[in-house]
Formats: sequence, structure tokens, C-alpha cells
Amino acid sequence: MTTSASYARRHSRQVLVGSVAVGGGAPVSVQSMTTTKTSDVEGTLAQIYALAGAGADIVRCTANDLAAVEALAHIVPRSPVPLVADVHFQYRLALAALDAGVACLRLNPGNIRKPDQIRAVASEARDRGVPIRIGVNGGSLDPDIEARYGMTPTALVESAKRELGYFTEVGFDDVKISVKASDVTLMVESYRMLAEEVDFPLHLGVTEAGPPPAGLVKSTAGIATLLNEGIGDTIRYSLTADPVQEAKAGQQLLQALGLRERSGTDLVACPSCGRAEVDVISVAEEAQAAFEQLDLAVQVAVMGCVVNGPGEARSADLGIAAGRSRGHLFVKGQVVSVVPEDEMVAALVSWAKIVAADGVEAALARAEVGAAAAAAADRAALVSEQGDDVNEAAERVALIRRR
Ligand code: SF4
Repeated sequence: MTTSASYARRHSRQVLVGSVAVGGGAPVSVQSMTTTKTSDVEGTLAQIYALAGAGADIVRCTANDLAAVEALAHIVPRSPVPLVADVHFQYRLALAALDAGVACLRLNPGNIRKPDQIRAVASEARDRGVPIRIGVNGGSLDPDIEARYGMTPTALVESAKRELGYFTEVGFDDVKISVKASDVTLMVESYRMLAEEVDFPLHLGVTEAGPPPAGLVKSTAGIATLLNEGIGDTIRYSLTADPVQEAKAGQQLLQALGLRERSGTDLVACPSCGRAEVDVISVAEEAQAAFEQLDLAVQVAVMGCVVNGPGEARSADLGIAAGRSRGHLFVKGQVVSVVPEDEMVAALVSWAKIVAADGVEAALARAEVGAAAAAAADRAALVSEQGDDVNEAAERVALIRRR
């Protein structure tokens, strides 16, 4: 990612959402949100991988009930990008999401309104070093603020400042803020006002923008207007569509504004976890070095295990996953070859050339006989050796249940 925009960016503090810096001169990041039931661990992870592949730097998942939060304990260690738990109404779910290990919380000041509860969440986040987004939404404003100020920029900004006040009381300021509205003018004016009053990083979005193309136009109108004024540190398109379109739109907007550049091959890699059968970092670095020499317009995944890797990265054009001293080469999630571990990167490069030159279908047609069966056997053996919970998510779930 590089920044080449010519206009000055608003000065803001910096918060860290896991490994992604937001504000303080960091590149503007792209966010999206899963639409799966968070309690569906595999389905949610598959969507997170698809979003990461499409350019999402940070992904938000709803933490709408205990099953969702417990699932997050399993999802977090396997996610390729930092995860934000989206919490409404129930502050205990925010505390439980912190137990689950999320990198950030999003709280809606319009529906968690009791000061003691807000302070309890902020205190816990402070102690854990986890940031919170104050996510004001014009559609769910605190009723007394709306009664006093109407649906105006002042109302949205006052809602954010009231929440900030509770946070300040417990010495918590690891905060980013959004003041979203579905009306573009209201949204733009609200962010402009907020940007004058605070120096926290701002998360931009037009809420409930609707399906494309109108949703894309509305979101772009609001987000681009502000980015061109130097306002905004992280963005989300809220589309009534596959969220992959949100991530792609975010990327494309940043590229159009000169705020981000991308190279030819898009390499994604799992963050590794207790299941990893190989040193993912060194294989990813080796792959990165190999692909830098080439100019192949493909998305390539390097995954630490064959148990989950091909499924999690099935939206990538191709990838390699490690298991039992072998590498499983897959195209769109389907295993096409099984190679010795020390040939993983070489195999990845040769299959990437096939995909880039002839396409996915042609590559699938060249799948080696017996590869899928050999892969299935490796996978079954690993599941039987390791069990289901190598990430010790059960311990986190027990912690969540003690609350
Ligand atoms: S090692 Fe396997 S389960 Fe763990 S993050 Fe990588 S692909 Fe996912």
C-alpha cells in the first residue's frame, strides 16, 4: 500500500486494530462485514477469506448472541485479518467478545445507553488494550439526543461525544468514531463537524446505502467527498449485496483517489494457528519473493494446514496448504496436485502460470489423478490426530460462559 494523494490528510491519533494501524498517517484501510451467521464458524471464515482476498483489511462480524461470540473464539485465531465484534443492546456480549479475542469492538451508543455498562466495557477494553469504535448511526440515535437536536449533524456528533465522555471517565481513549447516516449530506456534514472537534481517527460510511448501483453511488459520494478533504482513516461501503462487492468498491475508490496501489499478484496467507503444519511465514515469504519476479494477475493463497486451508481460501484462484510433510495444491478450493513439502512454492508458481495463461477451468481439467483422494486421506488423518480444537478455543468459550 502506498499513499500518493496530493492533498493533506487531517491529523488524527492512531489506534491499532490488531496489526492494522488506523489514523495517525496510516494508509486508509478498507473494512467490510460478514453476512453469515457468526455461529457458523466455517461459513464465516470462508467469507472472511473472500473479503480479505477482495481487499478488506479489517472485517466486522456480528456478535448478536452468545453462540456468535463463542464462535468468534474459534474464528479469531484462523482469520487472515483483524476482526471487529459488532455489538448492540447487550453490553455483556461486548465483554464476552473481548474474551473471545477480537481486535476491536463496535458499540452503538444509541442502543447501549446505561453509563455503568458503557464504562464497564470501556474499562475491560482499556485493560486488554483493545480499541472501540463508537458507531453512531442516524437510524438508531439515542432518543433523547434526537428529541433535543432533531436528525442533524449536531445530534450525531453529540451522541459520539457523550459516549466519549463515559470512556474518558475510566481513562479509555483507544477510540475511533463513525457518524453514519443514510442521507449523504447529513453524513458529510456530521463528519466535517466531528473532524473539527476531535482528533480521533474516523471510520467513514453511508449507512443503509442499499443495493448497487444506487448504493455504490451514494457511498462513493459521501466517502469520496470526505477523503478528498483529507477526512477519514478507514472506510466501509454498506451495500445490500455480497460483501465482497463492498471490499472491492473500497479498494477501487482508494485506488481512484490515489490513496492505494496494488501489485500484480495478490498474495494472501493465513495467519497460522495451532493447526499449522508448516512455518507459514517463511513459506509466504518464499512465495512472495517468487511472485515478485513474475507479473501474474492471480490471487494466490498460502495456508498453514490442509484441514481448513483449501476451504478457507476457496475464493483464491489457487493456493497451497501444508499437511503431513506434503503440500496440497488447490485451484478454487479443489485439490489438483499433492507435492513434497519442499516443492510447495515451486508447484505454486507453475500452477499459477497455468491459471494465469489458460484460466481456472483449464487448470482444474489438468488435476492429477489420485490427488484429491490422497489429499482427503491426509486431511482425515490430521483431524483424527489433532481433534477439533487445536486453538484452545474451548478455554475461551469456558471464560465466556463464566460471565
Ligand atoms: S493453519 Fe489452518 S486453520 Fe490455522 S489459520 Fe492456517 S489454514 Fe486456518
